[in-house]
Amino acid sequence: MSSLSLSDLALDQTWQDEASCRDTDPELFFATDEVSRQQALVLCGACPVRTDCLEHALAHREAYGIWGGTDEQERKRLIRRRRRAA
Ligand code: SF4
Repeated sequence: MSSLSLSDLALDQTWQDEASCRDTDPELFFATDEVSRQQALVLCGACPVRTDCLEHALAHREAYGIWGGTDEQERKRLIRRRRRAA
């Protein structure tokens, strides 16, 4: 029986084929204006691979942009919460 580690999941990027944003300009997810950020979050909200995207961002400590429906501050909070729970 095999099991996937967090690093295995981080390396497996096949989920990106199913991403709602695969045909969207990546700049939308790194925009600083609130309208663009909200547009990115709407796309994430309907994305079938949102969880994979978020775990990728957390594993790689993505410091900028919208990933998995979270912004930079939300990911920092998630990392702190997970560290405390570990
Ligand atoms: S969750 Fe958002 S950033 Fe991640 S793949 Fe889906 S649409 Fe793209």
